[in-house]
Amino acid sequence: MDTHTTQSGPSQPARQREKIPLAISACLTGAPVRHDGGHKRNSFCMERLAEFVDFIPVCPEVGIGLSTPRPSIRLQHSEGEIIARSRDGADLTAALRAFGKQQAAQLGNIAGYIVAAKSPSCGMERVRVYHPSGMATRSGVGIFAETLMQQRPELPVEEDGRLNDPQLRENFVTRLFVYHAWLKLNDDGLSAAGLIDFHSRCKFLLMAHSPVVYRRLGGLLADLSGDLQAISSDYIRELMTTLKTPITRRNHTNVLQHLQGYIKDRLSSPERQALASNIDHYRSGRLPLLAPLTLIRHYLQVHPTPYIEQQFYLQPHPESLCLRYAL
Ligand code: SF4
Repeated sequence: MDTHTTQSGPSQPARQREKIPLAISACLTGAPVRHDGGHKRNSFCMERLAEFVDFIPVCPEVGIGLSTPRPSIRLQHSEGEIIARSRDGADLTAALRAFGKQQAAQLGNIAGYIVAAKSPSCGMERVRVYHPSGMATRSGVGIFAETLMQQRPELPVEEDGRLNDPQLRENFVTRLFVYHAWLKLNDDGLSAAGLIDFHSRCKFLLMAHSPVVYRRLGGLLADLSGDLQAISSDYIRELMTTLKTPITRRNHTNVLQHLQGYIKDRLSSPERQALASNIDHYRSGRLPLLAPLTLIRHYLQVHPTPYIEQQFYLQPHPESLCLRYAL
């Protein structure tokens, strides 16, 4: 497999579903591209997420022309900067930055990127940086990943290690699906009506992450008579930044109560009581989030409410990924 930038599909037969283009550090797919010829295959990505995404494996170190195996690389302080230096003495910083810029432009259609933790090229945070004394601090960012994130600040990026945390995993996959919907909207040609409609679908999700930003972005879209492209760029950047903030139980409860307010007039008295009780039990930690959400989705089947049904918040990603079981 070409692990520089190659499309790879899932092992099982493809279903009739559009897949999301998702870049990934090539070693996480099982490709033996690490400096020692090994890999870091990630089972969540390759066995569960693969059904819904088209992986685009990228190995920046192979991408800049290094061979496998090769001397290892580390970040180190040098004349007031942090550079990536190979064990054989080569300074690879400029090459990794140039490759990051090139990939950020070339992979314009990706809806996210999963990077390998701790790598001086791909690591997103807490990468070891060595001082001249030989001491190291976990304070660096891989040169390629840093460049990519600077070039594409709205792009959902996550590390393999952090995907083991149920909340961070659910958060990343939510951002992936929301951003993919945004890219699709732009594919079809951005219009003021499309932007308003997208924001409308984001309403409860955004409210859950930050009621303050929800109001601010509503204000931003209140007047679309200016440069629509500039407004939409500001909008998606702030939206995607805000979605990184974890949702607290209190904010989930607040959003569930808002949803309850929208549908309560359609419910019978026992249905209303059951929903109120579910939300209260979630608030106090006696039920998982899925309990009130499942009840609301059931009520929406019985009492269709299109505005609510279209909300990302209710089902941001496929149920079969089971990402909300631990919330
Ligand atoms: Fe290549 Fe990045 Fe994996 Fe290192 S961490 S082997 S640079 S893909």
